[in-house]
Amino acid sequence: PRVAVVMGTRPEIIKLAPVVAALGPAARPLATGQHWDAALTDVFFAGVGMPRPIQPLRGIGGRDRAGQVAAMLTGLTEWFRSDRPDVVVVQGDTNSANAGAQAAHHLGIAVVHVEAGLRSHDRAMPEEINRLVIGAVADVHCAATAGNAEHLLRAGAPPASVHVTGNTIVEATRSTLPDAARRAALQEQYGVRPDGYVLATVHRPENTDDPARLQALLHALGELGLPVLLPLHPRTRAALAASGAVVPAAVRCTAPVDHPTFLALAAGARLLVSDSGGVQEEVTVLGKPLVVVRTSTERPEAVDAGFAVLAAPGAVGTAAEWLLRPGWPEELAHRPSPFGDGRAAERIAALVLAAARVPALG
Ligand code: UDP
Repeated sequence: PRVAVVMGTRPEIIKLAPVVAALGPAARPLATGQHWDAALTDVFFAGVGMPRPIQPLRGIGGRDRAGQVAAMLTGLTEWFRSDRPDVVVVQGDTNSANAGAQAAHHLGIAVVHVEAGLRSHDRAMPEEINRLVIGAVADVHCAATAGNAEHLLRAGAPPASVHVTGNTIVEATRSTLPDAARRAALQEQYGVRPDGYVLATVHRPENTDDPARLQALLHALGELGLPVLLPLHPRTRAALAASGAVVPAAVRCTAPVDHPTFLALAAGARLLVSDSGGVQEEVTVLGKPLVVVRTSTERPEAVDAGFAVLAAPGAVGTAAEWLLRPGWPEELAHRPSPFGDGRAAERIAALVLAAARVPALG
């Protein structure tokens, strides 16, 4: 069978790499070009062991949301029409996943949605709308957790189409985390000492687009009492330059790092502070505490299992103290991840191959 695996952004590449590997020669990785900043993607494929994808579309990055979805819907429809995949795999909640799912569905090609059933219940988030659209057209829903599956069933998905597979981030994190010697070398290269620094990321519009909030967050990072490493997402770099925000002396900004480097730096950190979705999952595999700088999360599992706490910029310090209370970091280091057992990709690949043999429902 021919399986088109659609990817648009950094987290999709990271989380689909284990699925592409499990599918073997059937997989045809396809990059939409939603992110085609070299710093975000080029370095990535080698790092996560992904063969270089085909990139049939042009000029997708830099458009607004409607323009992006429209261009990808048109481009992917043409591509699927000529390439005739038996099944299309999409991951998560990006514009690329939305367009890929719709294009396949309209052509009667089976759609498998990886990381299905996340809900923030916040319709102001473009990602939430993408999740609802993909959930409506997917033929097979691969939910990471029982809670995610429950969302889909409540929305009326046929029970036979919903599968709890775990999240592939568990195996991605385990297989991409560099060994102890390499971790030590990377930590030295970034001038940090094990357990003696904070690793932070910021890229959600709710944190970058309001200059006062961005400044408050930087200020909070500067007050943590430890050096902070902040690999800057291109959106955040642009927001910093435009707002003239002051970066505190304790905060060191770097270029985005590849995934093995990010995991090595995360594994050595005392604490993480981030608004990223993927980082909320990775800390549960690495056994690290995380302050999530958001007002809501579609990943309550990390909070419920004790790894993460949600905080506004002004409450980052208090949340950090709570997570670093005596004994708690040691406790987290041994807790199992609520996101799976490291065999999600195997299960997903089996479902994808089964879907390729059954005509799409639509
Ligand atoms: N990440 C990375 N390098 C960095 C920052 C993050 O490899 O400099 C990884 C991180 O480990 C996680 C993923 O990127 O797996 C998260 O992507 P992002 O925060 O862009 O998106 P989200 O998960 O919020 O959708």
